[in-house]
Amino acid sequence: MMTRRQRIIKLLEERDYSPGELALALELRGKGARKVIIEDLKAIQKTLKREGKVLLIKPAECRKCGFVFRPEIHVPSRCPRCKSEWIEEPRFKIEAR
Ligand SMILES: [Zn+2]
Repeated sequence: MMTRRQRIIKLLEERDYSPGELALALELRGKGARKVIIEDLKAIQKTLKREGKVLLIKPAECRKCGFVFRPEIHVPSRCPRCKSEWIEEPRFKIEAR
């Protein structure tokens, strides 16, 4: 039986996922689902170093004006440039270093 974090690691070793896609894949529902995933990703990032792996981050992007956020483990809610809330989520992937 794998823990949720182990399942996330397995998924991210296969391809990239957004937090929303991970929540769907793990059947996490509700408003807090993304927050749970974000906390898991932060914890996972810390443990990966020891295994010689790295969490790659494709940054979030504003779908209205194209503003690119910093590559962080975070889902921004609004664009600082145009104030749009139409945000493309960041994507995450695990690779060996
Ligand atoms: Zn924008």
